[in-house]
Amino acid sequence: MRYIELGRTKEKMPVIGMGTWKYGADEKREIEALEAGIDAGAKFIDTAELYGSEGIVGKAIKGRDDVFVASKVFSSHLRHDDVLAACDASLKRLGIKTIDLYQLHFPNHSIPISETMSAMELLVKQGKIRYIGVSNFSARELEEARSVMKGNEIVSDQVEFSILTRDAEKGLLGHCQKEKTTLIAYSPLGSGALYTPKYAKLLEALSAIGKVHGKTATQVALAWLLAKEEVVAIPKAASKEHVIENVGAAEIKLSTDELGTINAMIRRYSKAPVWPGACSGRCSSTRLSGTGVPRPGSVTG
Ligand code: NAP
Repeated sequence: MRYIELGRTKEKMPVIGMGTWKYGADEKREIEALEAGIDAGAKFIDTAELYGSEGIVGKAIKGRDDVFVASKVFSSHLRHDDVLAACDASLKRLGIKTIDLYQLHFPNHSIPISETMSAMELLVKQGKIRYIGVSNFSARELEEARSVMKGNEIVSDQVEFSILTRDAEKGLLGHCQKEKTTLIAYSPLGSGALYTPKYAKLLEALSAIGKVHGKTATQVALAWLLAKEEVVAIPKAASKEHVIENVGAAEIKLSTDELGTINAMIRRYSKAPVWPGACSGRCSSTRLSGTGVPRPGSVTG
């Protein structure tokens, strides 16, 4: 496993973590997958109060103190006392005393960010969380949140970023690199869209590059992300085999030429973005809604 520093914290983060959105279909298999990933070095698990997967994560990490656990408070719980209550409930479901990284899942512009962040800072003081992060925040929203912090840093922003969805490169990535904020890439395999017929040619091209390294197309797609400074990725996989394959992406070092080839292939084969416009309810449309709060019933990771 390769590691980078989380924000400016000196905390070592594995570049590959494990997402758990949509976990719950086969708990035993999913716990085995998480355990295999932990053993292989992906000692970083992402969950959220929204996912219903905190209990599964709790079972997978029971008795271990070497796993970095990230969870999220949902955007409808960003009032001061709601943040505190949500954290207590997450801790209970996870069966741990401290969440390593607690993230605001989405911005909520109807609640002052200073109120939310004062609760987050209180949680640090109480020892219930170690680090504060955000998710689905633009560079402007991140800076606004940062400006109200009294004694803690915002160490990370978790946003959608993959070979298929590159919106993060419009400004946020550069901002994170400048400020040394970790960018946690979610849906790094396009939520599975990479494997659909629409992207068969792209997958084939990635596969050809992978062969040179003795790696797969999936591993190259993840390595493309990991080649960017300050970026870590949290693919979700429900099987041991997929988890192990994903962890193997951390070993690839793509050359500048290979990165250039991949960028050209992306332009050629994935012109149509998967999520913006098509996603109806994921982060791009929630930003457009003006409140930053996902609409009830929307598809939200
Ligand atoms: P993803 O990781 O991009 O893709 C998951 C899909 O890829 C699943 O269908 C999975 O299949 C498949 N897959 C994984 N590894 C594979 C492999 N090696 N070979 C072939 N297929 C593979 O999707 P995601 O769940 O949307 O994103 C990952 C995580 O990011 C989430 O679980 C969540 O923790 C986080 N997230 C956060 C937000 C947010 O708003 N902050 C939003 C979305 C997601 P199997 O399950 O069958 O293995």
